[in-house]
Amino acid sequence: MATTKVNWPEAMRPLIKKYKNTKFPLEYGNVYELAVMVVLAAQSTDAAVNKIAPRLFSDFPDMQALSKADPQLLFPYLAGIRNFANKASWLVAMAQKVKSDQGIPLNLEALVELPGIGRKTANVILREAGKKAEGVIVDLHVVRVAPRLGIVKEEDPKKIEERLMKVLPREEWDAGMAMSFLGREICRPKPECERCLMNKVCAYYNRPAKAKMPKEAVKKPRRAIK
Ligand code: SF4
Repeated sequence: MATTKVNWPEAMRPLIKKYKNTKFPLEYGNVYELAVMVVLAAQSTDAAVNKIAPRLFSDFPDMQALSKADPQLLFPYLAGIRNFANKASWLVAMAQKVKSDQGIPLNLEALVELPGIGRKTANVILREAGKKAEGVIVDLHVVRVAPRLGIVKEEDPKKIEERLMKVLPREEWDAGMAMSFLGREICRPKPECERCLMNKVCAYYNRPAKAKMPKEAVKKPRRAIK
C-alpha cells in the first residue's frame, strides 16, 4: 500500500487496541513512584530502574520524604542509573516543588514545569494515571518506529509528536505508547516484519525491493527524550 494513501487514524486502530491495557514496564505502586521512576528511566533501562526502586522507596516513601533529602544522599540508591547525579537533583527539586504526593499535578502544562519532566515523561504519567491524553508519547522506540511506518518523516521527537497530534484524532493519541510497545517487541532495530500487524501499511516493509530507507528513518535520537 502506498504510504500517501494510508488512512492513519484507521490503520492505527488495531495497534492501539492491541496495547490498550498494557501497563508501562515500570513496577510502580502509585503516582509518586511512577513520577520518580519515569524520571530515572530516561537514558536508562526500565529493568535497571525496577531493580533499584524498592530500596529507594523503602527509605523515601513519598514526596515529603524526598523533599527533605540532600541529592547526594540518593546517590547510593541510584547505582546503575545513567546521569544519576542530575536525576537526584531533579527528584529532590521536584519533591520540594510539589511538597506532597497529593501535590503532583496531573495535567501536561504543570507537569512539564517540574524539574526532570519533559513532554514524554508527562505524557507517560498522564497515561498511566488514567488521564485523558494531552499529547502523544514519543520515546526512542517511537522515533524509530514512526518513520519506518511512514506516518511521519521527521526525526526530532518534538516534531514527531506535533505531526502525530495532527495526523491522529485525540482519541487515538495512545498510538504513541502502542508504537513504543511495538518497538520494544517487534519493530526492534532489526525488525521482525513478518509477524508485525502493521506490515500491510508499513512504508519500510512495502518499500521497493532494492530501495533502502533513508538513514534518518533508523537513526537514534541524538539526546535523551525527557
Ligand atoms: S512492518 Fe516491520 S518495519 Fe514496519 S512497523 Fe512492523 S516491524 Fe516495523
